[in-house]
Amino acid sequence: MPLTALDIYKVLPKTNCGECGVPTCLAFAMQLATKKAAIDTCPYASDDAKATLAGAAAPPIRLVSIGPVEKCIVIGKETVLFRHEETFYHPTAIAVRIPVDGSPDELRAAFERVQAMQFDRVGQIVSIELVALADVTGDPDRFASAAEVATGLGIGLVLMSPSPEVLGAAAARIRPHRPLLYAATTENWEAMAEVARTNACPLAVRGRDLDELAELTRQIAALGVTDLVIDSGARGLAPALQDLTQIRRLALRKQFRPFGYPAMAFVVADDQIDQVMEASAYICKYAALVVAETLETWQALTLVTLRQNIYTDPQVPIQVEAGLHTIGSPDESSPVFVTTNFSLTYFTVEADTESGRTSAWLVVVNTDGQSVMTAWAADKFNAETIAKAIAESGVADKVSHRRAVVPGGIAALSGKLEELSGWEIIVGPRESAGIPAFMRTRWQELTAAAAS
Ligand code: SF4
Repeated sequence: MPLTALDIYKVLPKTNCGECGVPTCLAFAMQLATKKAAIDTCPYASDDAKATLAGAAAPPIRLVSIGPVEKCIVIGKETVLFRHEETFYHPTAIAVRIPVDGSPDELRAAFERVQAMQFDRVGQIVSIELVALADVTGDPDRFASAAEVATGLGIGLVLMSPSPEVLGAAAARIRPHRPLLYAATTENWEAMAEVARTNACPLAVRGRDLDELAELTRQIAALGVTDLVIDSGARGLAPALQDLTQIRRLALRKQFRPFGYPAMAFVVADDQIDQVMEASAYICKYAALVVAETLETWQALTLVTLRQNIYTDPQVPIQVEAGLHTIGSPDESSPVFVTTNFSLTYFTVEADTESGRTSAWLVVVNTDGQSVMTAWAADKFNAETIAKAIAESGVADKVSHRRAVVPGGIAALSGKLEELSGWEIIVGPRESAGIPAFMRTRWQELTAAAAS
């Protein structure tokens, strides 16, 4: 909960010296409460006052990064319970558990299977980004060697072992890769905190219930280890979801600091469909990290697709870069299509054109990510913007003709567009699914007529 002016006034010196630029400490407190001033402006503010204000300014859920600085995965720092209230910022990280019990070759193959789980979806590469490496033998050297192989492949890691010694040996060997260490418990928290502190790694904390978890995070944070990820210990969809929701509510609504960390969940269902449903529920509410026992490619695709949708800001449409794009290998006689920079529109046009085995030039107009008819209605896809886009795209230097195909829905613009652009405007199909048929009939006629 943000501090009120009165809360802040209580920790100020109350001398009303005026050196902060306002006549009284209360006036200064009011400025601080509305973020119009910084505490450093008062030369007499105590360390306590500074700590109080810093604590109040800290995000309700801490931002935690896993992995090396140049390729880290960032989780936490969410600010709302429901996406429609604002947005969700940091997508749930997904990890696949791999036990260290096979041969080096088997392990490497397992790592590479996870690494291959990446998909190009609406212009974004979405992937499974972490492996949860599980110590099942208690052998520090074997575990550390497996961690080295994974990081050598560029894989981010969660290191899982009940033994601080085993985790410490692996963390020391791959220190720059900043794995998440799992997990501090009531039995080992001091030693685990020391391993995390020494190796500057984030630390997962597991309680047997929410009360124990809160007590543990308080104790560990008091040791100065604050990059924490929390696990309530609940397993199974209903209890885990209940705890995840409780943790998020308490962190956001009550500013309950012991739960002010990203939370994690484990998928425990046996059936593969149930595994997807369980993981999906955790992605929706409110896991920052989900660990799956196993993951097939079809399961991974389902989860990363859901995650991409949940963590896409609904107020910011996914966009592609405006300008000239190519489909296939177009040449000087290839058609020139015009569309908007709304990602789904762009990729639909691209896919439908490719399905007709046609190479084409695509002039993409910046409509702030709006689709054809929405942008037309908002006057962002009009004769002026399209003519300007055609001119600036440089497509005139790429083709020997001067014919541009516009979506059928904006046929009414074609006259004015011809005037402004100097191009012959061909009204294409209303839906891009009609492009293959359009190319076989209308475009062929135009080409033949031009040749005769
Ligand atoms: S400088 Fe500090 S002590 Fe002086 S009036 Fe401002 S807040 Fe109060």
